[in-house]
Amino acid sequence: MAAAGMGVLPCGAFASECSGLRRPDAAPTQQQQLMGKARPSLRVGAATIRMAVSVGKKPYVTQKSEEIFTAAKELMPGGVSSPVRAFKSVGGQPIVFDRVKGSHAWDVDGNEYIDYVGTWGPAIIGHADDEVNAALVEALKKGTSFGAPCVLENILAELVIAAVPSIEMVRFVNSGTEACMGMLRLARAYTGREKMIKFEGCYHGHADPFLVKAGSGVATLGLPDSPGVPKSATSATLTASYNDLQAVTELFEQYKGEIAAVVLEPVVGNSGFIVPNLEFLKGLRELTQAEGALLIFDEVMTGFRIAYGGAQEYFGITPDLTTLGKIIGGGLPVGAYGGRKEIMQLVAPAGPMYQAGTLSGNPLAMTAGICTLRRLQKPGTYSYLDQITKNLTNGLLQAAKDAGHKVCGGHIGGMFGFFFTEGPVNNFDDAKRSDTAKFARFHRGMLERGVYFAPSQYEAGFTSLAHTYEDVDFTIAAAKEVFKSI
Ligand SMILES: *Cc1c(COP(=O)(O)O)cnc(C)c1O
Repeated sequence: MAAAGMGVLPCGAFASECSGLRRPDAAPTQQQQLMGKARPSLRVGAATIRMAVSVGKKPYVTQKSEEIFTAAKELMPGGVSSPVRAFKSVGGQPIVFDRVKGSHAWDVDGNEYIDYVGTWGPAIIGHADDEVNAALVEALKKGTSFGAPCVLENILAELVIAAVPSIEMVRFVNSGTEACMGMLRLARAYTGREKMIKFEGCYHGHADPFLVKAGSGVATLGLPDSPGVPKSATSATLTASYNDLQAVTELFEQYKGEIAAVVLEPVVGNSGFIVPNLEFLKGLRELTQAEGALLIFDEVMTGFRIAYGGAQEYFGITPDLTTLGKIIGGGLPVGAYGGRKEIMQLVAPAGPMYQAGTLSGNPLAMTAGICTLRRLQKPGTYSYLDQITKNLTNGLLQAAKDAGHKVCGGHIGGMFGFFFTEGPVNNFDDAKRSDTAKFARFHRGMLERGVYFAPSQYEAGFTSLAHTYEDVDFTIAAAKEVFKSI
């Protein structure tokens, strides 16, 4: 049932290894030429002023951002609605956005950025796409939420089922967190077991059982990662190091017949960009099957991102359950979990496992999801994403090395990342060797030159169909300057 023509690529094609490839030099764009004219910064009041490089000759001022964020801190914890936005791990003030379009974002001071966050993944066809916007306007006229069945749910469900190999039936929710909560309850209901194995550095939303800090590379019993999470909520959470099949095997021996599921990000994006080795994925598939446990891919980030059918199509490994989010909402709040019918039939009201949602399956969110997936079905989509992302990643790595930095990184499809360490990075412990202070300087330098990367070393980057080769060239040229100055 997987979409045709998306073959499994060899792992070597994207190995998390420092690539020596060099992009053929292109003639400098106008933006690049402008970049050579950066002037030193000066302080005016609370705002840093720097000659802009991305928006012609306008100075880089962030005064309004600073004012709004200062006020926000009195109104909302940390001034944000989700922690990483606050720039804590890179320092400095966050940029307050005003609008987004295509591959670009504009802040409240009028600065323009090439955006490699893409609202953390959903904006894969570009921000504020005209077709999606027009469809949303039409949907809006019929109402924003029905709380009753709506044909748009069927349409999105059919698209998801046709795309994702493991999914025969799907339940829509409103976020990735909710999808993961439902998925875990379902795995426990289906197997009649309680324990779950997750991996250090993998994020599965903020529900209690997933908020577990793991030991240093060794499989350990889970302890809560946040105050307010009772030990009882995480006592059934076991953790292992990513790419460490032996650790998982040992946990299965130690807790024979007690483990309901192994849950993982099939490509990690929440502790930086970390690729699985194929033997690890194959091993997990065989082990879970042999032990009567479920294999669960959390594809909230990778779904429709690294391939149309997600990581499971890309690697040719079919899990029992899958969670989705981000892209399937096309920028509106949607999550989903799905799997074989036999398992999904346990979900209420077909079966006894309770899970519900007032706004779940609402027509606006379904509309954005449908339009986004339909665009992604067009021929050439994923080869384009792969090509621009490869150019970007290779260009960044080469520029860093030319400036004498130790870096490693990689990409798959429209997802990428790099670390300030020699590598290889196979798990969270390896990732933690990255020079995060240097990343913070890199991040700030890029921001001042009109490039918006995720404000943390431990986040993946995203491209979109709206990103152009010019965007990529501009980014690499800016990075060349920044790498020399950090
Ligand atoms: C983003 C993400 C989540 C959580 O999704 P939200 O919509 O932020 O709740 C869960 N799992 C993975 C892999 C994610 O990347």
